[in-house]
Amino acid sequence: MTDDATYGFDTLQIHAGAKPDPATGARQTPIYQTTAYVFRDADHAAALFNLQEVGFIYSRLTNPTVAVLQERIATLEGGVGAVCCSSGHAAQIMALFPLMGPGKNIIASTRLYGGTVTQFSQTIKRFGWSCKFVDFDDVDAVKAAVDDDTRAIFGEAIANPGGYIMDVRTIADVADDAGIPLIIDNTTATPYLCRPIELGATLVVHSTTKYLTGNGTVMGGCVVDSGKFDWSANDKFPSFSQPEPAYHGLKFHETFGPLAFTFHSIAIGLRDLGMTMNPQAAHYTLMGTETLSLRMDRHVENAMKIANWLENDDRVDYVTYAGLESSPYFERAKSVCPKGAGGLFTFAVKGGYDACVKLVNALEIFSHVANLGDTRSLIIHSASTTHRQLNAEQQKAAGASANVVRVSIGTEDANDLIADLDQALSKATN
Ligand SMILES: *Cc1c(COP(=O)(O)O)cnc(C)c1O
Repeated sequence: MTDDATYGFDTLQIHAGAKPDPATGARQTPIYQTTAYVFRDADHAAALFNLQEVGFIYSRLTNPTVAVLQERIATLEGGVGAVCCSSGHAAQIMALFPLMGPGKNIIASTRLYGGTVTQFSQTIKRFGWSCKFVDFDDVDAVKAAVDDDTRAIFGEAIANPGGYIMDVRTIADVADDAGIPLIIDNTTATPYLCRPIELGATLVVHSTTKYLTGNGTVMGGCVVDSGKFDWSANDKFPSFSQPEPAYHGLKFHETFGPLAFTFHSIAIGLRDLGMTMNPQAAHYTLMGTETLSLRMDRHVENAMKIANWLENDDRVDYVTYAGLESSPYFERAKSVCPKGAGGLFTFAVKGGYDACVKLVNALEIFSHVANLGDTRSLIIHSASTTHRQLNAEQQKAAGASANVVRVSIGTEDANDLIADLDQALSKATN
């Protein structure tokens, strides 16, 4: 299928990037379980290695099954290209890698996945990179944090652990004025609920481990490029604007235009960092994307019902779900994610830390796991698990205080989920 922009999301999520296998006619995308590809002749091999011709060389760089997934996610996000990686965290490093260098910094939202806070506050320091965490609702503070060494702004559209919606367009304007890209982690929203590129984002990163795969089977990540950023407008991005010594002085932006980021990520990023997605993982994720919109609609419908029920329950202090009118982000959600505020939210249990631990233990349908975006309903007490590495102040900023649990609402029968929460809350608050 040609990726005709006139096709609707429901059609593209099944067909984009894929066609019947030319060798066998297989209708489903085959799993190309191979590490290498035969060159036609020595000239063909040389052209591929010089990036003069696009093709398959070695599966650390490109693989036909992974390539279909890359094209599909790029199409669903409205980008020009994408590169898949071994995990969401790998995707974040892959997104930053060509932008950064020793002494350079990024500005990130205080409301992020716990693992990302750790990656940005600790691990990237080993590369000589640093991160300034800023409250993205304080736009002046975001502007003030930008300095000559800032190379990107990073936030989550619907922030994990839930309830916070980022004003993507406003922060995109700040990035534009500073001449730097905005990177949006769209994992918890998915391209069905939120379209960051239309709101001004340059790059979109995903943990495909979550909703895109949708059933908790395989790890993966993806970086999508909007193709809209002018990497040569200033001297901040020499990886794209300056000659690349490892490719005979080729300039990625001059040579590949809007695909500069995508080609650099494959030719340099995957080649040298090796955070490659394997074809089995791509296969599972391709199958997941086929039902993305159907699942997201149900996740949102169930999350609304359950958040409403919890909000009216005496054993619960508060619920932070941007789909509720009580949320300070209710209005913003309508423009950032018009099809719904996602399937993730947090709620505070009367009785604090101990009650949260009892609740998690008493639930029967909900599983206590460090994951989200599964068809199964999941719960986690962030303060004792995913956000454990953070201090109390960081936990609070991330919406993960000791009395709060996070739920990832699945696609089961909402009444069964409510009954399960009801019985467990009784045990937790007795
Ligand atoms: C899970 C997650 C990540 C990290 O992805 P992995 O696939 O676990 O490496 C990053 N951001 C968000 C919002 C996530 O939910």
